[in-house]
Amino acid sequence: MEYWDPVETLAREELGSLQLRLLNETLHHATCNSPYYAASIPRDLRSLTSLEDIAKLPSLSKDDIRVDQEARPPLGNMVAVPEDEVVYISASSGSTGVPTASPFTSKDFDEWIDFEARLFFSSGLRRHHRYCHALNFSLFVGGPCVLGAQRIGALSIHAGTLPSERLIMVIDQFKPDTIWTTPSYAWYLGETAERMGFDPVASSIKRIFVAGEPGGSIENTRKRIENLWDANLYDYYGISDIFGACAGECTEKAGLHVAEDHLLVEVVDLKTGEHVAEGERGEMYLTTLKKRARPLIRFRTGDIVSYEEERCACGRTHLRLMGIHGRVDDMLIIKGVNVMPSAIEAIVRSNSALTGEYRLVVTRENHLDALTVETEHVKSFKGNLGVLEKQIQGDIKATLGISPRVVVYDEDTLPRATHKAKRIVDHRKDVWKP
Ligand SMILES: [Zn+2]
Repeated sequence: MEYWDPVETLAREELGSLQLRLLNETLHHATCNSPYYAASIPRDLRSLTSLEDIAKLPSLSKDDIRVDQEARPPLGNMVAVPEDEVVYISASSGSTGVPTASPFTSKDFDEWIDFEARLFFSSGLRRHHRYCHALNFSLFVGGPCVLGAQRIGALSIHAGTLPSERLIMVIDQFKPDTIWTTPSYAWYLGETAERMGFDPVASSIKRIFVAGEPGGSIENTRKRIENLWDANLYDYYGISDIFGACAGECTEKAGLHVAEDHLLVEVVDLKTGEHVAEGERGEMYLTTLKKRARPLIRFRTGDIVSYEEERCACGRTHLRLMGIHGRVDDMLIIKGVNVMPSAIEAIVRSNSALTGEYRLVVTRENHLDALTVETEHVKSFKGNLGVLEKQIQGDIKATLGISPRVVVYDEDTLPRATHKAKRIVDHRKDVWKP
């Protein structure tokens, strides 16, 4: 077994000591140099004696970053170095559409690219491979990750968001064995290839890295994309205000290893705010351990995860996210039941009579939330639609305990996702419009 960096196999006790040292360095740097942290972190909590004590520190959200940057544009009061030391920013827009900047020093950027290389290497990418980066480059923190493949020495194709037909031609001409895209787009691209008369199974693609949506960790979605391309799918996790990829699957495909020498992970119960145990679900909070330009301390990611700390069969000791189960914002409460869209996706994609495309429409009827699951049958389906709808409804009832309305349309009725799929149509907001 080969590793990119010896830190990947550090015993957990040593890793914990390393994290505590890096956390205290971060707290010192942030409170000495950033007006935001100087004001928000109490003096007696600027040097901790155990990692658990981090729970005593205040957390922050994407909105806090936005408000801070609007108060002191463009980088805000969280920034902890003079602007002269900032060499790169990515920008991301959130729910309000106002972009926030994520700044990097030269060293931050270099260390980031090195651990992108580490993640790629753990997924089997080597110098003799060809890597196609089919993610947006415009301001997007996922763009520079391509340099991680270059650092390994792989031939790297900066494809970006080429039109799908052109991307298929690039794949046909340059024969990359690895591609990175979103799960929805990997699926769409495979179907586009088929429409163009290219067989994705016969293509050069052997490894597909995906990020940006929960699909890569949903078994049925993963299988269908893998079958479509006859390739291995590796799920990655990134976050726009931190790094393009913070975690990724090794060749064992047994969860996503977090680069724990760069990030301290907390998984927090949504109701109590306390740390949850291994295997339980909660919101992930991340603290950057090395970033100097703009450290993030207890950043609430909004992502629901569970984790495992046991050493992976690959030998790496860094904790694994056992799936990104969805977004806190996406969680629907239907008749008192918490419903993650990813749970419905798993059911829809396990049914061979369906194309796998789906959309969830939420409305409010008589002051109660009502859910409609829209799906499509495959062209070859010749059965009774009413029976199929009942069957899907029964599967959802058996798994989630709710009976949503189910509608099965003809193939190609629902809009196809190009990059991030919009699968939830929430009409409930209309109810509150003045
Ligand atoms: Zn592993």
